[in-house]
Amino acid sequence: MALLPGFSGSHAPAWEPIRLSVSTSCLHSHAGAWERVISEAFTLTLFSVYQKLLDQYGPQQWWPADTPFEVMVGAILTQNTAWTNVEKSIAQLKAKRKLTPQAIDRLPHEQLAELIRASGYFNVKATRLKNFCHWYLVQGGFDALNELETASLRHELLSVKGVGPETADDMMLYAFNRPIFVVDAYTRRIFSRLGLVDDGIKYEPLRETFELEFMGKRKRKRLSFDERVAHYNEYHALIVVHGKDVCRTRPRCEECCLRRQCAYLK
Ligand code: SF4
Repeated sequence: MALLPGFSGSHAPAWEPIRLSVSTSCLHSHAGAWERVISEAFTLTLFSVYQKLLDQYGPQQWWPADTPFEVMVGAILTQNTAWTNVEKSIAQLKAKRKLTPQAIDRLPHEQLAELIRASGYFNVKATRLKNFCHWYLVQGGFDALNELETASLRHELLSVKGVGPETADDMMLYAFNRPIFVVDAYTRRIFSRLGLVDDGIKYEPLRETFELEFMGKRKRKRLSFDERVAHYNEYHALIVVHGKDVCRTRPRCEECCLRRQCAYLK
């Protein structure tokens, strides 16, 4: 997936991604402390996996979008398809000046479906996008939704037809900068192979497992709201890179930075 583009130019949005307010230096400032925790424990933990992936791949600086609304559209379009296909649909919407909630809400279903054809399931996704945009406008748009506290906002997003937990949490984390960990198929595959979670674990318990790990339990310093957002942002992006490139359906264990501790190889 491409890196988040810059925000220069006359149309720079008021919204800024978390990487601008909580810089990656924040991630590295905790890295030293985490390394100490890791070396003390000598075991693979959700923290140590994060650190190893961060060391291996570096900060990913997600999400690749220019505005929070583009993040939300991308979160719906990326359901069951590769990001490269989403990029084509986003480019089509931009080229036709239809990447606004008002434009998508007004656009006839067939025209929208044609513009997002590259994303696959384009009829279903056109319906979902139109549902979402209508709801988004009725709610008052980004600023009104952003006034909601985190649990309420997540509850509201999940009430929209076609927005499931992963899609809602993409929006929560990457559009609204809320500390909600995004779980996807890569997360389940990598961490069950590592032996850290059961492969049958459901979405919510898995999300809570990650979030509890970052809540400052045991001897660790309690992370602030913004620090958790920054770490969840990076961690999910790193999981996607690792799952896409190394821990694939047929894993490339010989290239893997986690291979020495991985239960899959034992
Ligand atoms: S060692 Fe293999 S199975 Fe384990 S995390 Fe790495 S790629 Fe996946």
